[in-house]
Amino acid sequence: MAEPGDRVKAMTNDGSFEGILMPGSNNSVFIKLDSGYNIGIDSKKISSLKVLGRGMKKKDEVKQVKKKNNLPSIAILHTGGTIASKVDYRTGGVSAGYSAEEFLEMFPGLSEIANIETKAVLNIMSEDICFADYVKLANAIEEFSGKCDGIIIGHGTDTLSYTSAALAFMFEKINIPVILVGSQRSSDRGSSDSAMNVQSAARFIASSDFAGIAICMHSSSNDDQCAIFSPLKTRKMHTSRRDAFKAINDTPIALVDSFGKMDFIKKDYSRKSNEKTILKPGFEKDVCLLKTHPNMSQDIFDFCTKRYKAIVIEGTGLGHAPVNISNNQKNYEALKSYIKKGGIVAVTSQCIYGRVHPSVYSNLRRLSEIGCIFCEDMLPETAFIKAAWLLGNYKPAEAAGLLAANLRGEITERSLYEKDFLEYSYKN
Ligand code: ASP
Repeated sequence: MAEPGDRVKAMTNDGSFEGILMPGSNNSVFIKLDSGYNIGIDSKKISSLKVLGRGMKKKDEVKQVKKKNNLPSIAILHTGGTIASKVDYRTGGVSAGYSAEEFLEMFPGLSEIANIETKAVLNIMSEDICFADYVKLANAIEEFSGKCDGIIIGHGTDTLSYTSAALAFMFEKINIPVILVGSQRSSDRGSSDSAMNVQSAARFIASSDFAGIAICMHSSSNDDQCAIFSPLKTRKMHTSRRDAFKAINDTPIALVDSFGKMDFIKKDYSRKSNEKTILKPGFEKDVCLLKTHPNMSQDIFDFCTKRYKAIVIEGTGLGHAPVNISNNQKNYEALKSYIKKGGIVAVTSQCIYGRVHPSVYSNLRRLSEIGCIFCEDMLPETAFIKAAWLLGNYKPAEAAGLLAANLRGEITERSLYEKDFLEYSYKN
């Protein structure tokens, strides 16, 4: 009988499938193909399942990976999350595949694209990440940037776009591609997106002239295309879909299909050059992101204005906050005296799509008059990271002045006609 971890060949009416048998359910058989993709086959459709070889090699028997001279070198920096997890087919337990050898075992197709080396920088789920972790990651990127052609960062998907924003602000200049990759479903699941995401990032690094920080994730729910997304205008928009990441108020930078064919949507992306890396790693921890809502207690505004050096308001609609009628007037006064004393208030919208505006309604003008800074079409999360980074590297008055300036592509100067980006967002 075939055991998980055995090399098997499944015969069906649609053809035969050969690869490593993965743990499955009674109704389906999951096989990891040599390409790195996993397929699930309905057990009823299998006429025979032949065992071609027993078990996988034990970890200490894994062979050293030989370098191929003609391939580019990619450093894989792990931070944790689902992307680094794999099932040990002998025990059924999930462990983190951190060494280059283990990583290539999980994603065998990678060895055809690049020579890889790996480093575990962190080992946490991304919901637990702190600013200090961004600094560790940036230092590791700086360390590897002089000795490889590109870097892939394995990261949990939940806060991946916060990290990409942090890195994009921290690296004023970086001359190699640094691509963040996550996976919505772990590599032991038949529907995993991890192999396609990692391999597409590697193909993009290997054959494009792009330099800078970006994200590579599925662009549709099929296994046929990934998108290279902006580090500052991208958001996880679904809890479980493989195409959860969407470009917001923007288009992706490029699309990469499963054969490595690249289609650049943006023409003005940053390219490789000989300029020196510039890293500004400061972060101010006393910054908060405040989502407004009906019936909001005044205590919240009181607390935030006392506790933090900057408040990023995720307001409603065009940037509204509950500051207008009777009781809420106290919120207005709290913000007004906070800004007078040097506090920074940034305004973004929980609509996510579109831009805030300081003058369409008189309520918005009241906020603008006391010095609230309207952040155009910047995502709330990006504005939060930007405010913390600015205060970590510049004096407060300078930081306030730079908040609504477009430093790294976090603001689009002109709102795209919806069709231009929704085409890439909701195609499927
Ligand atoms: N909660 C996990 C994280 O963000 C999910 C994932 O790994 O994608 O780290």
